Amino acid sequence: MSEILLCSQSYKNNLDIISTHIGSKEKLGVVLKDNAYGHGIEEIAKLASTYGIKSVFVKNELEAKKIAHLFEHITILYGSLSSNAKNFHLTIHTDTQLDNLPQNSLIELKINIGMNRNGINPENIESVLQKIMQKKIHLFGVFAHNGYGDDIGEDFENCQKIFEEIKEKIKYFAQKMGFQTPRFHSLNSSGTFRSQNIQDDLVRVGLASYGYLTTDFKIPIAKKLKPVASLYADKICTHFLKKGTKIGYSGVTQLQEDSFVSTYDIGYGDGLFRFNGNQEAFFTADGYLLLPRSSMDCFSALSTKDRICVFNDATILAKIFNTIPYEILTNLSSFIKRTIV
Ligand SMILES: *Cc1c(COP(=O)(O)O)cnc(C)c1O
Repeated sequence: MSEILLCSQSYKNNLDIISTHIGSKEKLGVVLKDNAYGHGIEEIAKLASTYGIKSVFVKNELEAKKIAHLFEHITILYGSLSSNAKNFHLTIHTDTQLDNLPQNSLIELKINIGMNRNGINPENIESVLQKIMQKKIHLFGVFAHNGYGDDIGEDFENCQKIFEEIKEKIKYFAQKMGFQTPRFHSLNSSGTFRSQNIQDDLVRVGLASYGYLTTDFKIPIAKKLKPVASLYADKICTHFLKKGTKIGYSGVTQLQEDSFVSTYDIGYGDGLFRFNGNQEAFFTADGYLLLPRSSMDCFSALSTKDRICVFNDATILAKIFNTIPYEILTNLSSFIKRTIV
């Protein structure tokens, strides 16, 4: 059956590059949301924990529970909590989320610094802090997400300035209202790589830890990142087919010459995007031509090999499907077997 191989050396290599850049292993938080960007949350969590990572970020409580035993701090970006594990920190995007939280919950407050998507607006910080104090909730962290990390231009710096002001404001309120200064963080992969002398207590790196960066400008050290995941498919069967034979739905592929053609056990139902014949030619990582159309559970290729490597770098598929590596990776079905190598 199809399989995703996870290269532990590459993952370690990427974390080394990031921690060297930020000048500390302690400040490195990794993002494991969405099944660790499709890599497999339990497998990647194991590698991150072995590396010494203490803080991670997941999508929801279900993901947090799978890795609860491995980290000191697990921030849950969305949803609510049914249990109150000491290492789970719920993200608060709006004040009404505080209403049903039990006393002593540890939360992280998300502030809107210009993406205008999620989080508390800066002008409401004081009233939200008052509510947190009243409800005896523990403010463990305050964070923002800069939506301009990939882009050339001044928006990125402008948003960071807003966050610096917010930090000062929160530190002031901490003294005035008598709560402990929370941890502060604001940088994702691209934001981390474009920043020098990071003042935050933590970075939140997702994509770069998996071996990719999608900035519009060149960052030399990013070239050393190595993709962690390779997707393998196994042969279902082989046919010898005459020139002119049609293959697959609607016979989109018509053979130019007599050929051996095999089908392999991954389709769009497994999260590999569907080749319908309108994309440019796609060759697997080991050089075999994929023959559209792909089906829900299989695709055909000009190969007789028992196992082929569909991709070992999601950038190529992202280009073909006019999207970003994030989408190619997160789409991979959690039913595919993951193996750490
Ligand atoms: C997904 C996410 C990140 C990680 O972003 P990358 O670009 O993958 O590094 C960081 N912070 C938050 C809040 C996120 O949702």
